[in-house]
Amino acid sequence: MASAESRAEFERSGVPAGSQLLADLLGASERAVVLTGAGISVPSGVPDFRSPGSGLWENVDPIEVAHIKAWRRDPGRFWRFYGERFASLVHTRPNPAHEVVAELERRGAVRAVITQNIDRLHQMAGSQRVIEMHGSIEFSRCMECGARVPLERVIEMLDAGEGAPECAACVAPLKPDVVLFGELLPAAAMAEAQALASEADLMVCIGSSLTVHPVAGLPELTRRAGGRLALVTVGETPYDSQADVKLHGDVAVELQAVLALMGEHRPG
Ligand SMILES: [Zn+2]
Repeated sequence: MASAESRAEFERSGVPAGSQLLADLLGASERAVVLTGAGISVPSGVPDFRSPGSGLWENVDPIEVAHIKAWRRDPGRFWRFYGERFASLVHTRPNPAHEVVAELERRGAVRAVITQNIDRLHQMAGSQRVIEMHGSIEFSRCMECGARVPLERVIEMLDAGEGAPECAACVAPLKPDVVLFGELLPAAAMAEAQALASEADLMVCIGSSLTVHPVAGLPELTRRAGGRLALVTVGETPYDSQADVKLHGDVAVELQAVLALMGEHRPG
């Protein structure tokens, strides 16, 4: 929680105490890691299917339609639904929250971004080390020969409207390179994320409710190793009582404020 010092700072300057505290924590840390969830992409117009009334997912049960069993049972039907999700993501762009995260890495204030998102927006904003826990829409894969087909080609096939996009060589249906319900998280990504979390002296969780395991266990690794924990998210999380600082506002506004405060206090 906010220290007496940062509360005093707030009274003097009108700067929200939490923003200053997070700016200070970022400035002091050497191995900070960012963990992001759907909330960071909401200002980019990417629907968060866990929030009620979010368009695309409103009338379906995502656990049913985005399940590996649904793909196996009927790839054409699966893609009729999932293709809409792909198409809705193609033209989305990073928002200022993604840009702040990329800038923090550029400045050396953050080592890496661990994300639950599949939308590629961190990379588009310029983040270099992005660990995608749930895969990405960037490629779809042939499960027979392993060929990876880029998004643009998949969209072309979807637009042609002939059922599931297929591998040109095998004529087998493609599967998006994202982790569907019922599938395990990629082991390499999980191992890298766990190492980063254990080594982190600060974890900044942005736009994640931190309820979906095993990703939700990562802040615990940081805490157990003595690292600090910062939360930037609108809703409640299971870590609220353990966090050193929590910012509740719009992720883009909050992060821009933090970056501005870091700029002012930057040494040299
Ligand atoms: Zn193939």
